[in-house]
Amino acid sequence: MANSSKMKAVVYQREGVLALEERPVPVLQKSTDAIVKVTMAAICSSDLHIKRGAVPRAKPGTILGHEIIGIIDEIGNDVHGLKKGDRVTVNCETFCGECYFCKRGYVNNCSAPGGGWTLGCSADGGQAEYVRVPFAENCLNKIPDHVPDDAALLVGDVLSTGYWAAQIADLHPAETIAIIGAGPTGLSTAMCTKLYSPACTVMIDISQERLEFARKHGLADVIINPKEEDVEKKIRELTDGRGADRVFEVAGGKNTFEMAWKIARCSGVVCIVAMYEEPQMLPLHEMYGKNLVFKTGGVHASCCGEILQLIENGKIDARPLITHKFTLDDVMEGYRVFEAQEDGVIKVAVIPG
Ligand SMILES: [Zn+2]
Ligand SMILES: [Zn+2]
Repeated sequence: MANSSKMKAVVYQREGVLALEERPVPVLQKSTDAIVKVTMAAICSSDLHIKRGAVPRAKPGTILGHEIIGIIDEIGNDVHGLKKGDRVTVNCETFCGECYFCKRGYVNNCSAPGGGWTLGCSADGGQAEYVRVPFAENCLNKIPDHVPDDAALLVGDVLSTGYWAAQIADLHPAETIAIIGAGPTGLSTAMCTKLYSPACTVMIDISQERLEFARKHGLADVIINPKEEDVEKKIRELTDGRGADRVFEVAGGKNTFEMAWKIARCSGVVCIVAMYEEPQMLPLHEMYGKNLVFKTGGVHASCCGEILQLIENGKIDARPLITHKFTLDDVMEGYRVFEAQEDGVIKVAVIPG
């Protein structure tokens, strides 16, 4: 039980305005809920999309934060397999597990009220001291004892996204993979595609600093900065003129959308991971005969348990991505640094109290 009835929380007040507010500590509303005491939350680029007013279903007045770990503080009677005191990851999507989509693993499309991406968007999220998690049995995963908080923080969102992207891209060993965007999600995608043993991972970004980060941490074999090199030409040189077998578009710009299908080889897969803020043009007349397969976002975040197992066994280590930590009191400075991409920031962790 929470000690006081008030807590601090980051609230999306209206387009362009976030603020640290005092809010009531959430309480159980259904027997399938849990209340999680947040030990760490991350700031995600989706939070910036919401701030900019680019997420139509985001509700003003909502507490942000959908990348969360914590300790179960209260638990509903119908949540099985978990108990008060468990250290858990929280899925960015909450899902019923019973509807048409959930039964097929498409949890992002969960049709139950409160299903899909609602936490930190249309329902109060976890950049706060406590968060109410609906469908807790589906959406909380116990963190193995010797996995530290830093290693588990990104499981519920960016690692889930990278893991899902790698799953849907139909990867095979020894392929050439191009990842456009070396931000947190691009780097997570590189971490998860490595599980499929690509022959070569090419990371593309206009930030030389982020490219070097990727190379330093073994997440890129080749780096390309479009400001300095012709990306399409370089990719063709690397692939005997064919193009990349699999392309992940994780940058979210008009130019990067175009780059994605241009650098893909014939009959390749283009995986659109990014969240765009405006429509993109798909010039089918230009790509006729290229026989591309397009896959589009967003993530079905239903593999947190598997990802935790991979972390436990040393197959994935996302700790280097957490470059900055701020207390909840200083969270607005954290947002500023993250949005400005200052000081080599990749991910900002927020620690309440
Ligand atoms: Zn996110
Ligand atoms: Zn469902």
